[in-house]
Amino acid sequence: MPIGTSFPSLGISLLKGGSTTPLERERASLLNGLRYRGISERVVYAIGAVRREDFVPQSLRDSAYRDQPLPIGKGQTISAPHMVAIMCEILRVEPQSRVLEIGTGSGYHAAVLAQLAGEGTIYTIDRFEGLVENARKLLPANVVPLVGDGSLGLPEYAPFDRILVTCSAPEIPSPLLEQLKEGGRMVLPLGKGLQELFLVRKNNVIEKEAHGAVAFVLLVGKYGFPDM
Ligand code: SAH
Repeated sequence: MPIGTSFPSLGISLLKGGSTTPLERERASLLNGLRYRGISERVVYAIGAVRREDFVPQSLRDSAYRDQPLPIGKGQTISAPHMVAIMCEILRVEPQSRVLEIGTGSGYHAAVLAQLAGEGTIYTIDRFEGLVENARKLLPANVVPLVGDGSLGLPEYAPFDRILVTCSAPEIPSPLLEQLKEGGRMVLPLGKGLQELFLVRKNNVIEKEAHGAVAFVLLVGKYGFPDM
């Protein structure tokens, strides 16, 4: 169901006295922190609708609503909630969007995208089968998790309205640019040591807009960094 603008936001209802467990209180405070940063209510709602504790290892459940990245195995991490929020904000996923995510990881960001895309579809790909299998159990029906080298994109499902890359690339992978619709938006981190988040817009020409310094795991693949 698409998320509208007028709804009894989960965050607000929790703040009105619905908070019972420490985890719920931390979740309410996280959502307020996102509002304080200027994140739109639509994105705050999507984040509030996904149980981050289900996507982190059992031993880290109690830390699920800290605004920090957490390890998810295979040397990979689930991004901090504010980073997920900022990326969603810049990506501007719409209720019918066809979205490609490179870097499924825990599946958390894909679940948030699924909230935002409503009746649209999210294709998410990771190079680690174990991560994809785990995410598959947690993701709703409008998310299609796949295993492979996401730097090649998914030509069989292209073109996409939105592309989100959650690992840092040396440069914009050319297959992803090709698979982005005219008028589409792509959000991705670029760089190795020093990384920067970019919004790429495809409107006859390619426009690239910088959105600040970030730290992501590397995109490893044909159009990414070599596997070491
Ligand atoms: N979005 C994830 C976080 C991903 S961390 C979440 O919400 O949990 C980055 C992920 O990118 C890692 O899981 C890593 O395995 C994956 N990755 C790196 N290179 C890749 C490639 N070429 N294709 C697909 N996934 C890749």
